[in-house]
Amino acid sequence: MASFEDVMPSAADVKAAFGDRGVGDTDRVVAVLVSGRAVERSTWSDEVEVSETDFDRLLDEDAPTPDVNDFNGAKFRALDPRSRGAKVRRCTECLYRPENGRCLRCNGTGKLQVGSDDWVNCSGCIEGIALPCSVCNGTRRAVLVKIAFGEDVVRRFAHIFLPELPFPLREPLTLFFKNRTSVPDVLSIDLRDDFAAADAYRGRRSRAEVKGHRADAALALARNYVDRIHRLPRMAAVEAGAFAWPMVVGAFAGDADPSVVVVRDELGSVCRFG
Ligand SMILES: [Zn+2]
Ligand SMILES: [Zn+2]
Repeated sequence: MASFEDVMPSAADVKAAFGDRGVGDTDRVVAVLVSGRAVERSTWSDEVEVSETDFDRLLDEDAPTPDVNDFNGAKFRALDPRSRGAKVRRCTECLYRPENGRCLRCNGTGKLQVGSDDWVNCSGCIEGIALPCSVCNGTRRAVLVKIAFGEDVVRRFAHIFLPELPFPLREPLTLFFKNRTSVPDVLSIDLRDDFAAADAYRGRRSRAEVKGHRADAALALARNYVDRIHRLPRMAAVEAGAFAWPMVVGAFAGDADPSVVVVRDELGSVCRFG
């Protein structure tokens, strides 16, 4: 598939798909497919006491740039900007520890009594000397800060927007596009482009076109869909792609109403619906 035209059903494809009954009026249309990935970022903050070393590290750390390709999801912590000027003070975690490090749990003996005769080693110390404070690591100096904890989750999204088509054709076509394993790159479009049809005869209402193919409101709906994802709360990054997939809608010779759609799949095989 080297170009948009390679995916377009040819006149011969259409004729073959209609068979003996013959081809009546035909109309070229596009389905607009949107797919992408977004990073949903949740954060919550908490006031915590950290060591001076941790504080210095936090001053250098920023929340990571959201990455739509990181399916493992990033977990991070970042200093609340208001805490950048926080002052070092006495660590409250070890406020009531004796200066000599005597373990208060076993009263410095290193043993705890279990039952009437049994003794076990105290888990809070080594031979009566308490383990270093888990906050200040024994320096007795700590900083009270607000930390934002965050988590990124990558979400995939996809939607199919069809032009105006006879109702019975909509469901099989939706299914057809849902089942595609890939979308030819040559069908890629930029939703920010102006697709308004130049044809004054048809009016500019919702008559958007892609390479002469009727898209109706599908382009505007696709654009709204992507805009809505951008505006969702907590969306830290959005990467979306749009594609216009050409089809031919037609009526059998002698019929007034279109009832058949001819479309090529990603491998070039011609499919007929209706
Ligand atoms: Zn102890
Ligand atoms: Zn401490």
